[in-house]
Amino acid sequence: MEILRVEHLSKIYGTGENAVHALDDVSFCVEKGQFLAIIGPSGSGKSTLLNMIGALDTPTSGKVFIDGKDIFSMKERNLTVFRRRNIGFIFQSFNLIPELTVEQNIIFPVLLDYQKPNKKYLEELLTVLGLKERRRHLPSQLSGGQQQRVALARAIVTRPKVLLLDEPLSAIDAKLRKSLQVEIRRIQKQLNITTIFVTHDQDEAMVMSDRICLLNCGKIEQMDTPIAIYTHPR
Ligand code: ADP
Repeated sequence: MEILRVEHLSKIYGTGENAVHALDDVSFCVEKGQFLAIIGPSGSGKSTLLNMIGALDTPTSGKVFIDGKDIFSMKERNLTVFRRRNIGFIFQSFNLIPELTVEQNIIFPVLLDYQKPNKKYLEELLTVLGLKERRRHLPSQLSGGQQQRVALARAIVTRPKVLLLDEPLSAIDAKLRKSLQVEIRRIQKQLNITTIFVTHDQDEAMVMSDRICLLNCGKIEQMDTPIAIYTHPR
């Protein structure tokens, strides 16, 4: 089942001589539960693409459909609610709220939406992510890896249709990074969360994803399974 469709997406920053074609006619689909890694050199358009999918920025042309909804055709207020309910984000900096406990941080997006947290799902998340013993701790009392897991729980507490990760592991040391790669993938599979993962690390994309989208100068250079890209690199 198709969850995400990107159609002829283009983004031009600036005008005239200063115009930058950050994205140039990008199209692809992602099926439910799939893990897509977006890789490419710095400046190739990875963050721009992720920001468009997350409706944090608007394209110059083209469309993004999430679960069949044309997100840029929505009114701003509807889009804000749609984004909150259907799209989970994790950025490089976890942006946890220092004054709130682990549990309060995790349920924050639910409260922001004037909803009641689903206690059963919250317990499941705390268990799956190994945070049960830490639920009343503050972020400052956690290791980097634990903070990352809280950010992951917060991003998926609303059961988003798509989870967007923008280099979430790049600030973490190499050893912990490996275990978090395995952990994110395990949780993503266990909860069947459609995930788009931006990284500049090709090995990370290889070990974690079902498919890789290789961007270069705002265009898709290759899009295939890790094994196909490894055996037939373009
Ligand atoms: P990546 O994430 O692959 O490093 P980006 O999506 O951040 O690439 O950027 C793609 C291109 O768009 C780059 O040339 C960058 O300089 C340009 N760009 C990104 N954001 C802006 C902006 N707000 N204004 C002008 N140019 C931008």
